[in-house]
Amino acid sequence: MTRNKDFLEPNCKGCKYLYTCGGCRDRAYNYYKNIFAPDPGCIINRNYWLKLQNDLRKGYDLR
Ligand code: SF4
Repeated sequence: MTRNKDFLEPNCKGCKYLYTCGGCRDRAYNYYKNIFAPDPGCIINRNYWLKLQNDLRKGYDLR
């Protein structure tokens, strides 16, 4: 199931590099507890990374 990229969520879903990249599923799970979430380590997902930083500063639960 993790090899099927059709299950991924935006921004990875819809990305022009989806089938050559697909993002790091371990990193997505580590930050979102969801293997289909966007990879926040990718520059295309910078907005997700910035939101994570804000949430971490506030001490929010990231799930
Ligand atoms: S990690 Fe980045 S480049 Fe790779 S599929 Fe996701 S958005 Fe696209």
